[in-house]
Amino acid sequence: MLHDAHGWWIAEAGPPPALPPLAEDAEADVVVIGGGFTGLWTAWHVLEAEPGARVVVLEADRCGFGPSGRNGGFVQSMTLSRATLHELFGVRAGDELVAASEETVRAIGAWCEAEGVDAWYHAAPHLVVYAAPGQEHKFGAPGEGVVALDAAQVRARCDSPLFTGGLEAAVGATVHPARLAFGLRERLLARGVRIYEHSRVRGLDGSEARTDAGRVRAGAAVVAVGPASGALRPLRDRLTVSSSHIVLTEPVPDVVEAIGWTGGEAISDGRTLLHYLRTTRDGRILFGWAGGRMAAGARPGGRMEVDPDVIARARADLVRFFPALEGRRIERAWGGPIDVSPTHLPFVTTLPGGRAHAAFGYTGNGVGPSHLAGSALAALALGRTGGAAALPIVGPPPRVPPEPLRVIGAAAIRQALVAKEAAEQDGRRPNPLVRALAAVPGRMGMHIVR
Ligand SMILES: Cc1cc2nc3c(=O)[nH]c(=O)nc-3n(C[C@H](O)[C@H](O)[C@H](O)COP(=O)(O)OP(=O)(O)OC[C@H]3O[C@@H](n4cnc5c(N)ncnc54)[C@H](O)[C@@H]3O)c2cc1C
Repeated sequence: MLHDAHGWWIAEAGPPPALPPLAEDAEADVVVIGGGFTGLWTAWHVLEAEPGARVVVLEADRCGFGPSGRNGGFVQSMTLSRATLHELFGVRAGDELVAASEETVRAIGAWCEAEGVDAWYHAAPHLVVYAAPGQEHKFGAPGEGVVALDAAQVRARCDSPLFTGGLEAAVGATVHPARLAFGLRERLLARGVRIYEHSRVRGLDGSEARTDAGRVRAGAAVVAVGPASGALRPLRDRLTVSSSHIVLTEPVPDVVEAIGWTGGEAISDGRTLLHYLRTTRDGRILFGWAGGRMAAGARPGGRMEVDPDVIARARADLVRFFPALEGRRIERAWGGPIDVSPTHLPFVTTLPGGRAHAAFGYTGNGVGPSHLAGSALAALALGRTGGAAALPIVGPPPRVPPEPLRVIGAAAIRQALVAKEAAEQDGRRPNPLVRALAAVPGRMGMHIVR
């Protein structure tokens, strides 16, 4: 098995040649910092709103080489969070957000179609399955756009001996994330966006971004640096950073066929630190687990990118889900950092000074929502109101506890959740300390990873 920080998707897509770094000072209407989905979609939406706008993207590494190009490829709406959104924002605003997030899932598919980008977009429902005792109690009654499934119905879609029921959200899709990121980058270049790679922004003064080699003076700046947001002073107390890992099988079309998982459904289970699984166009099974560690000081790298312990557990869990995979090869394993917000929703916010705007906090669900956040960021950068800029995720984000309390407390809670969910899976009752710690986020009104 190859442990590879970049993951399989990027290798499969065949990354395009790197673009030269920024070498001299430049001017723009909008400078976008970060070439993941948030930054790239922002650039796209700016051009949609103002085709003549001058847009510069500054990317520290290469566009799509961060989490955007190596995630699970679930394109999810917020339908399953409707009850939480009602609680946080009221019924009307919550429903508007769900509708906008569903529209985003479709819009990504329509974009691939219109632009001729083969990102393996496949519209299919998202199933939440109950794969251990107690998971069915975590969800309320299915709301609009969601139906309940019994064990037979779930197992007819994907036959794992662990599945005892679930929920189906009708609006969903999967993509090949690296193909989508590279396709988007290419279409932006074709529309005249200036993209500089290996151009890390070291400082932002209002809306002027500085790299080692030059400055970009712009009317507005957009900060779209994903989990690196946690290291920025104004956002430091708004998110924590944890990690998620993926194992990917060799092509196993015979197993996929035998378990009847031929509809391409994206599946996650009812854990808080969830498992997520899907098939690929070439007959593989991708299996992820959000049980990685916390990053102290929100610093990415090291075990955020590849954690052999987490990978080993994910691999063992995969075979528990699908015993027919015993003895089949795991070809690749990789991970990456996740920007976690207290509500587990992304936030789009204007930074002090008013000339720069940022989006972060996707909590492992950014492939769909980054398109929506990009639309809001584009509107803010162009000084427009209404549309996506009026959604309730736009505004000051909630705070998390300060460091070092945050990382110590969050790591302890995460450990407790891992222990609690492992005990539940084995039909044991978790010990009282573990139960008490695992209940802390709920008592504080924090919603941690789905
Ligand atoms: C293993 C894994 C699985 C996941 N699975 C899913 C999934 O199935 N579905 C889903 O919806 N979400 C998933 N996610 C989350 C999803 O990948 C992210 O939410 C999404 O990609 C966010 O995109 P982004 O552009 O905000 O951030 P990123 O992809 O992190 O992009 C930020 C970019 O900013 C650059 N950058 C950082 N600092 C600087 C700087 N100073 N100057 C210039 N550039 C900088 C980085 O190099 C990077 O390219 C997963 C994440 C991981 C790690």
